[in-house]
Amino acid sequence: MEVIVGKTAGFCFGVKNAIENTEKQIEKEKNIYCLGELVHNKQVIEELEAKGVIFINDIKEAKNKVIIRAHGAEKQIYETAENNNVEIVDLTCPKVLFIHKLALEYAEKNYYIFLIGKKEHPEIQATKSFCGEKYTIIQEFEDIAKAVEDYQSTDCNKILILAQTTYNLNSFNKIVDEIKNKIANSEIIEIKNTICNATQNRQEETIEMAKVVEAMIVIGGKHSSNSIELYETAKEYCENVQFIETIKELDLQKLNQVNKIGIMAGASTPEKSINDVLTVIHRDFK
Ligand code: SF4
Repeated sequence: MEVIVGKTAGFCFGVKNAIENTEKQIEKEKNIYCLGELVHNKQVIEELEAKGVIFINDIKEAKNKVIIRAHGAEKQIYETAENNNVEIVDLTCPKVLFIHKLALEYAEKNYYIFLIGKKEHPEIQATKSFCGEKYTIIQEFEDIAKAVEDYQSTDCNKILILAQTTYNLNSFNKIVDEIKNKIANSEIIEIKNTICNATQNRQEETIEMAKVVEAMIVIGGKHSSNSIELYETAKEYCENVQFIETIKELDLQKLNQVNKIGIMAGASTPEKSINDVLTVIHRDFK
């Protein structure tokens, strides 16, 4: 069996940075707090917990020092930490920080912001807190009409479009086209494609791979937005796709009679999870 492993599979720059810096913090002091899951991968979280990281969901539970994860945090979190004398170790990915900066800057200039992304995703929850009062989250195509109505009910005469870093590029383009259709003067729209390169490259490689293999395995956390997107993308081009978090979930029966297989992994998937899959495939199919 021929096995292709995606060149872009596994940790992205932002996740690597967050994990390495968290590990450095643990070396300095045991029992450090982290607000929310550092990254969306159960195995990584369990490993960090074992090393002493305490994951909390409310900033008020933090004492002395708290880590802000790669997805970023709401504006109010920074204010609460400061009021409670809690030092922040900010491991928000620079690409997410850049979106916060854009949102703040354009909100101050009275732009209405269309934030394209998943409503409940922590990155969007954080970004919306930098958008001021005048914004609408567009999770899917069906949300566009309401977003345009929301915009028209304000005193804004300009629109800024931003995207979640891990949003699907095709869906983003379709939504942007529809917004342009609905707004008579499209010159008032400023479009910032803030989908990060790491995500974009991974999605493109997934498409190329899915077109030429007979089966695909996408490895990633079940709550990892970018991993779910990879799975959905792969399914569009390949009929035999499995989405697994660990090797235990791999259905080997589905790989019988397959001559060429592709392996892709999300941005928060550790190398070990990829190697576990490779070991089993090489053992059983070569
Ligand atoms: S996917 Fe992109 S934006 Fe998100 S953490 Fe990785 S590098 Fe940063």
